[in-house]
Amino acid sequence: MNAQTPDSPERADFIREIVAADVREGRHATIVTRFPPEPNGYLHIGHAKSICLNFGIAREFGGRCHLRFDDTNPTKEEQEYIDAIEADVRWLGFDWGEHLYHASDYFEQLYEWAVALIRAGKAYVDDLTADEIREHRGTLTEPGQDSPWRDRPTAENLDLFERMRAGEFPNGARVLRARIDMAAPNINLRDPVLYRIVHAAHPRTGDAWCIYPTYDFAHGQSDAIEGVTHSICTLEFEVHRPLYDWLIENLPVPSRPHQYEFARLNLTYTVLSKRVLLRLVNEGHVRGWDDPRMPTISGLRRRGFPAEGIRDFAAVIGVAKADSVVEVGQLEFAVRGVLNRTASRRFAVLNPLKVVLDNYPAQQVEEMEVANNPEDPSAGGRSVPFTRELWIEHDDFREDPPAKFFRLAPGREVRLRGAYFVTCREIVKDAAGQVVELRCTYDPATRGGDAPDGRRPKATLHWVSAAYAVPAEVRLYDHLFVRPDPGADGDLFADLNPASETVLRGCLVEPALAATTVGQTVQFERLGYFAPDPDSMAGHLVFNRTLTLKDTWAKLGAQGRQDT
Ligand code: ATP
Ligand code: MG
Repeated sequence: MNAQTPDSPERADFIREIVAADVREGRHATIVTRFPPEPNGYLHIGHAKSICLNFGIAREFGGRCHLRFDDTNPTKEEQEYIDAIEADVRWLGFDWGEHLYHASDYFEQLYEWAVALIRAGKAYVDDLTADEIREHRGTLTEPGQDSPWRDRPTAENLDLFERMRAGEFPNGARVLRARIDMAAPNINLRDPVLYRIVHAAHPRTGDAWCIYPTYDFAHGQSDAIEGVTHSICTLEFEVHRPLYDWLIENLPVPSRPHQYEFARLNLTYTVLSKRVLLRLVNEGHVRGWDDPRMPTISGLRRRGFPAEGIRDFAAVIGVAKADSVVEVGQLEFAVRGVLNRTASRRFAVLNPLKVVLDNYPAQQVEEMEVANNPEDPSAGGRSVPFTRELWIEHDDFREDPPAKFFRLAPGREVRLRGAYFVTCREIVKDAAGQVVELRCTYDPATRGGDAPDGRRPKATLHWVSAAYAVPAEVRLYDHLFVRPDPGADGDLFADLNPASETVLRGCLVEPALAATTVGQTVQFERLGYFAPDPDSMAGHLVFNRTLTLKDTWAKLGAQGRQDT
């Protein structure tokens, strides 16, 4: 992990330095980048890093960033994913304007270029099966072997490629390959496959095609058609770059984009692979792509992470050329930073214990004015009804308090935030000996939370009025995997955290929380940040715990919870 300061978010990285030099030397009139997702799943926090990089560079250098769907594999791609990806990029705060493209927009052009390669003797139709092609490919230490079809006459190649397109052959019967060099040290140059036969309907082109270009044949050419200047991708594509460049050089493309690679994001306790995320969904380990435990953008949003926190995280981790693993605590730190500034404070009692104030008038209701955010006076306040019967957190009372427990106990006085000082006079227990109610008294001279004689209780508790509290379900979340490197021992699914979700029913929250809308993350005082879940319906509130107030995982916040 790099040391960095959050106040220098747009510090230069090696890609920005390259772009800046290109601008300085007048190599491009306009900087054009693109974010090229394959619509075969939802976007995750790793994609957010790439989105912030590509759209960020375009913004900083006065250029533009395209959103381009890399939709070349119809058997795995769906409209649902296309829609979700667009919504997620927008929610993250980026705008592609009119520059929405699809690799499938270029299928006709790509086909023509493939024909041009055949005419130039630089591509051929191969009848080998996928397995045979693999066997002929050689290894890192041994060269590959030529396919027996490598020297097919051009006319025959043209005829067969046309018939592939016309649908005469079944899936896998033939492929189109570039004719480069079966002995090239880089395996990607050993006559890579450019087209395969796939009889499958495409979300956009329907049944128009039954041959589809490979990623390698579609990607660079799409960049060139769109005038992309800097084609930024992750390191696993570095070995593809010679092929990217070969195709650009050997085709009559309208521009010459350059590919640059950066290290993908890896996060502790997290898996960032669409293939694995799809399995988590399909095998029911989570409720869906937007389950609040998922590292997807939609999952983080549902959990209550603000887009700004994700952008801040991307800025702080920066962009590097070497792979590394970032602690998930860093993401949480960035999100807490935003929420501490922006989240309204509210009272919610997760595990309620009844408090009756014996000296408070039975029918009286006082509206207590409580600040929304002590960090931000401009956030104003709200009024919270106070009555004779209240709920407090069960954890805030101990019959036999240990030495450092300063909260409520028999005979002890505590402050109720924004209201009064109260003293516990009597404990009521049920037949099983469980504490079910506390009889207390309040000091009318302490209204608002200060005593005229200057006495200061050591603890301040949150509370809700029994008469006005609204019932709620609260879902507590923890990391989806128990170990920082899920799957390192082989079985990823054995590392799933069985306690990643805890559902609490019978929670009681202050009335203002009934009006919270999805997208508004609040702080339940002393408990953490919480966001209303879309499952909330009128009369049944559901809140997701976004994060605890302090990091309980990393050393940073391990000092434990404060009592006041
Ligand atoms: P996954 O590995 O999760 O299946 P992918 O690379 O196949 O992802 P794409 O839809 O092809 O997913 O990715 C779109 C863009 O996002 C690519 O440019 C890719 O390099 C980038 N990207 C994907 N994962 C990460 C990551 N973990 N960190 C940074 N960028 C990423
Ligand atoms: Mg990909």
